[in-house]
Amino acid sequence: MSVKLQSSAGAAVPVNRPPSTSWWTARFLDKPENAFLCAVDESFVRDRFNLIGLEDAIPGFDAAVRHVLGETRTDGGGGAVVDKTSGGHRNACGQEAAAELFYGMAHARYVMTPTGVAKMFEKYLAGCFGHCPRVNCDRSPVLPIGLSDAVGIDTVRIYCPRCMDVYWPPAGLNGSSVDGAYIGTGFPHMAFMTQPELRPARPRGRFAAKLYGFTVHKSAGDLQRLAAAERKGGANSNCVDKTKDGPPRRCGVQQNTAVA
Ligand SMILES: [Zn+2]
Repeated sequence: MSVKLQSSAGAAVPVNRPPSTSWWTARFLDKPENAFLCAVDESFVRDRFNLIGLEDAIPGFDAAVRHVLGETRTDGGGGAVVDKTSGGHRNACGQEAAAELFYGMAHARYVMTPTGVAKMFEKYLAGCFGHCPRVNCDRSPVLPIGLSDAVGIDTVRIYCPRCMDVYWPPAGLNGSSVDGAYIGTGFPHMAFMTQPELRPARPRGRFAAKLYGFTVHKSAGDLQRLAAAERKGGANSNCVDKTKDGPPRRCGVQQNTAVA
């Protein structure tokens, strides 16, 4: 089946959906905690070239691949997984954990492909990953990003393509607790290299701090921190303010600057 995405610029983005996914993949993606993930094509999983390097990272790698492809079944008691190919029995919990780990790591590779990018952009345009919390970004939709490519380090974050900064996902948003390595550190950057027409314009304005109608000087924060340090310990009284603008000056020396 083929559908087209509509970018903010009006450009059509073709997306080819796979005709089917395995029962395991469908069940896995139905879980709310996996809402940030997309369906990895079975053809991608079956191509061993795509999986190079994952063998050593996943216990029971071959069995995990077969489990993701739906080539296993749970026995009557539900305590073991039966491999339809080999007939072997494995612990169901361990098999499920290995399959989820494999799917996540394969997903991080899949979303770097044009097909994976298109699927994630479909979710992006639908606002599935949330919106930028920065006021000047005007609720621009965001993409997920990992802060580490190693599994188990941190959960996913969101990347705003307008201000090009990274934020915590909204609390309680489905999928926001998934492992960031299942998305990867390079995904949004690859996505906009693949579909540059979907990159939104930069925000028009920057936030300007004002107090009683006067703009607060950009050095106010540095001066306040120095003043606080001086109050905290007299030992800091000899420190020198190395603010870029203007000559160096001792902490606490009042300048002709509005400091709020
Ligand atoms: Zn933003």
